[in-house]
Amino acid sequence: MEQVIIIGSGPAGLTAAIYSARANLKPLVIEGVDAGGQLMLTTMVENWPGYQDGIMGPDLMTKLRAQAERFGSKIITGHVERVDLTAEPYIVETAEGRHETRAVIISTGASARLLGLPSERALMGHGVSTCATCDGYFFKGKSIAVVGGGDSAMEEALFLTKFASKVTVVHRRDKLRASKIMQDKARANPKIAFEWDSVVTDIKDAAKGVVASIVLRDINNDTTKELSVEGVFVAIGHTPNTKFLLGQVDLDDNGYITTVEGSRTSRAGVFACGDVQDSTYRQAVTAAGSGCMAAIDTEHYLEGLPMPAAAGADG
Ligand code: NAP
Repeated sequence: MEQVIIIGSGPAGLTAAIYSARANLKPLVIEGVDAGGQLMLTTMVENWPGYQDGIMGPDLMTKLRAQAERFGSKIITGHVERVDLTAEPYIVETAEGRHETRAVIISTGASARLLGLPSERALMGHGVSTCATCDGYFFKGKSIAVVGGGDSAMEEALFLTKFASKVTVVHRRDKLRASKIMQDKARANPKIAFEWDSVVTDIKDAAKGVVASIVLRDINNDTTKELSVEGVFVAIGHTPNTKFLLGQVDLDDNGYITTVEGSRTSRAGVFACGDVQDSTYRQAVTAAGSGCMAAIDTEHYLEGLPMPAAAGADG
């Protein structure tokens, strides 16, 4: 019987592991097939505090993992297929085995929806990004494209105008899904142009390892054209990784876990942290912060204590 199982190994899950290992809970971390989470798809991370010159996303995750192991976290690889959180002990099942635990921290993150092009995958982190806040800074004075027509796409496009010389929003319809206020802001920005009724069919130049242009297909007449850009931001939404939780904890209309008072879910002893419960901030550092909260909440739950008012003195 485990004290706590942490499902997911991004910044939220590994920070929860560091804190719960240091609280002597000997956490079992089940890292998914996309171990390390979304930062594994990034190159330079410049907004993680303490790394003045930045750190590569995969390097940061390697360090977090080693730090979690240093304090006694057990980390295994597996895709969690089923959980039973209806009664203690809670059950967590992967293809490889079945685990029983007194508490669960869910940190399975959210996956950015992608276009599904081979060139998109090849150039991810090399001109293709799913996070303007993370990568916008690298596109100073450059011409870039944002794909999508929702609030995220408008938000990313507006944010990117701080750096880019021009931002072209590529949308597959002739009407935006974004809220009126975001649409108005985007339309009023002189740096933002729109390509309507268009889908991206290729991103060039994967052979050179840089973004040089995108190929757009007009869905009305099936013609294609090439648009020169040096960056592509895919902003077609995120999907929280909560399919395995249906009927187990409360989810909101978009599938995110609802949490109250820190990291508590609708089920006692089950906590959630990181992007799986946060569709607003979605930053590595906020995910890590919520992982810390989940570990402290878990520790207090297992000790039968009231939820904490303040964290300990060591960090
Ligand atoms: P979203 O509302 O689901 O919009 C996704 C957009 O991407 C849609 O325009 C959709 O086109 C397009 N799209 C989806 N799949 C595509 C594909 N395969 N190829 C090309 N285009 C594709 O997602 P979101 O913008 O991330 O927003 C999610 C939620 O968060 C929304 O409720 C939103 O209001 C909220 N949000 C709010 C703010 C804010 O208020 N500041 C900021 C960000 C997000 P169609 O329109 O044709 O379906």
